[in-house]
Amino acid sequence: MTCEQYQMQIAQLFDNELRGEESSTVFAHLGACSECRDFFQASLQVRAELMNAETITAPDELDDRMRGAGLIPTEQTFSRKTSIWDLRIVFPLPTAASIALLLIIGSLFVAPALFHDSQPRQEFPPDVLQLVPVELRTPRP
Ligand SMILES: [Zn+2]
Repeated sequence: MTCEQYQMQIAQLFDNELRGEESSTVFAHLGACSECRDFFQASLQVRAELMNAETITAPDELDDRMRGAGLIPTEQTFSRKTSIWDLRIVFPLPTAASIALLLIIGSLFVAPALFHDSQPRQEFPPDVLQLVPVELRTPRP
């Protein structure tokens, strides 16, 4: 992999988009490559400065001009609809624990039905087993 590809993965690492083995590969490369290490430190510094930067608010006249050009919706079209994903269901802790316990106990009753072995085990007569080569036979406990 090239240093450019590692540097793209470093950016993904900061965004928590890398899996465990990918991030360990990146860290192993960082231990060996000073160019990528410099990139990593510069990225860290930029992110830290962005975190500490003041929030910049666009002037109202810019908002008006953008609205006039139709680039952002007008105030009337901003009607707020409540999505089902905005709803929150809140239970007291003992109630939530009881529900979780009931689900766990219920799954114990459902699980055997899901994993029931529908076909009975096939028993072979002893003379058929003699046809299997000795190397392939598993010893009986
Ligand atoms: Zn590198």
